Amino acid sequence: MNEFTSELSKRLDDIRRQDLYRELRRVGSAQSSHIQIDGQPLLNFSSNDYLGLANHPLLKEAAIKAVERFGSGTGASRLICGSLAPHHELERALASFKNTEAALSFSSGYAAAVGTICALSGKDDIIVIDKLVHACVVDAARLSGAKLRVYAHNDLNELEDILRWANTRAISPEQSRPRTLVVTESVFSMDGDVAPLGELVQLKEKYGAWLMVDEAHATGLFGKYRRGVAEESNVAGQIEIQMGTLGKAVGAAGGYVCGPKVLIDFLINRARTFIFSTAPVTAAAAAAQAGIEIIQSTEGHSRCDKLWSNIGKVKDDLGKAGWPLVAGRSAIIPLILGDEARAMGAAKAMREQGIFIPAVRFPTVARGEARLRLTLSAAHTEVELNTLLRTLTGIICNA
Ligand SMILES: *Cc1c(COP(=O)(O)O)cnc(C)c1O
Repeated sequence: MNEFTSELSKRLDDIRRQDLYRELRRVGSAQSSHIQIDGQPLLNFSSNDYLGLANHPLLKEAAIKAVERFGSGTGASRLICGSLAPHHELERALASFKNTEAALSFSSGYAAAVGTICALSGKDDIIVIDKLVHACVVDAARLSGAKLRVYAHNDLNELEDILRWANTRAISPEQSRPRTLVVTESVFSMDGDVAPLGELVQLKEKYGAWLMVDEAHATGLFGKYRRGVAEESNVAGQIEIQMGTLGKAVGAAGGYVCGPKVLIDFLINRARTFIFSTAPVTAAAAAAQAGIEIIQSTEGHSRCDKLWSNIGKVKDDLGKAGWPLVAGRSAIIPLILGDEARAMGAAKAMREQGIFIPAVRFPTVARGEARLRLTLSAAHTEVELNTLLRTLTGIICNA
């Protein structure tokens, strides 16, 4: 034991020396634009609860009703005896919302990515990812054993080079050809910029590859029906696999994959994170379904409008204060400070002024690209945004 604990202490010291040490902060309140962290009330600009649904009365009511009717636990995996009615209801709602033939829910977005990518690709295949995709996609691609190729962020030329190379690989007559799977996010989680989905679809069609799009930060926010960037770009029907999380704008927890029914049937048979894991609690499934229903309602529409007007205001005001503007258009506004210690200092100074914006560091982003990751919600009021801007410009413009 002694050798074990002293070795781990040494490793932690190493992390601290690089200003990369992380610790949990205890939140003593519900998720909303105001939270209490370690006893201190703070204005919250850190959450992915973009539409303010995480503490919505209808989601809470749905969760409570599900627990009363179906209990707290789920007993087993979905394929054993845990495939409770709320999961089926959620999947019907997801498919209808995303306008796909079918949907499958997972315990998290992470599990959805790992299960799906590893089910679809194996050691004879090729996976091509954007340099900035989420850790769950990188981990999945490695775990799958497929040949992994990475293209520079949103770089269509480099992607085309890789796809051309992939198609030159020898195809043995008795084997099905190596499959190429391209994976991107639609809105990138740390930079808040948007992938050129229209062009990506053209490329994958030209080279016969499959495309998987992670809409974690776009579902509920983009497109006339708020389905995501795939809808907005008018290419949803050409994307083989649409995935995302139920834990961000949807206001609950879990992950999903939407697509043709054969994809869903295949995942039920082959996605190991689905097969070998206890079914998510029905409270989460029922809350997610309620979240999806609100997103599609007039209330969802007006929450979404409010979010975009908040985004517009913060970007405008930051620009007027002389902050170099980020190109992205999403609820994620990265304020890149570079140095890890500088980002940590700025986050601390903001906290002391009653505002919570987390510093994001390596390995979540590249070394030397540490930032405050500011996220906005429909729940933020104009007064709160003004407080944010006043405090922020005082701190980062002088940091
Ligand atoms: C949050 C996130 C996930 C993981 O979803 P969880 O439900 O939190 O596990 C996957 N991809 C992206 C881009 C994310 O931001």
